[in-house]
Amino acid sequence: MYLTIDGWKSNFTFSACHMIPAHKKCSRLHGHTYALHARIHGQQDKSGMIVDFAVVKDAMRKIVDELDHKVLLPKKKVKSEKNEVTITEKGRRYVFPETDVALIDIPSLTAENLAKYVLEKICGKIKNKNISEIEIGLDEGWGQGAWVSKRL
Ligand SMILES: [Zn+2]
Repeated sequence: MYLTIDGWKSNFTFSACHMIPAHKKCSRLHGHTYALHARIHGQQDKSGMIVDFAVVKDAMRKIVDELDHKVLLPKKKVKSEKNEVTITEKGRRYVFPETDVALIDIPSLTAENLAKYVLEKICGKIKNKNISEIEIGLDEGWGQGAWVSKRL
């Protein structure tokens, strides 16, 4: 048995921009509307629940708020000083105010890597003994996305 939360229908969406330096078209700075989905597998407890929807939604909301209306950058590739974040990729130098950036500890901002990052964050927040597996889907625009899962 599993529970699902659909990010488009339940308003777990965020707008953000990124770039993928190794990709020809996506190496330019551009944006998406993302949607975050969750599927929680497990057994019902005595109350009849695997986990309270509100617990899952709280965890999802925190991540969506962290990423919404930000420039998403890989943490290890930037230089931060004087409230500014600088990244140089393939001869292009970008400087952003620190307030506009979310530094993510992944090698590049692909949907796949971002989904893995979100999965780890969600797993840390909603573990309980009823849950056997957590799946996270991250859509990069309508109709395309990456899904990752972790057995607990
Ligand atoms: Zn993109």
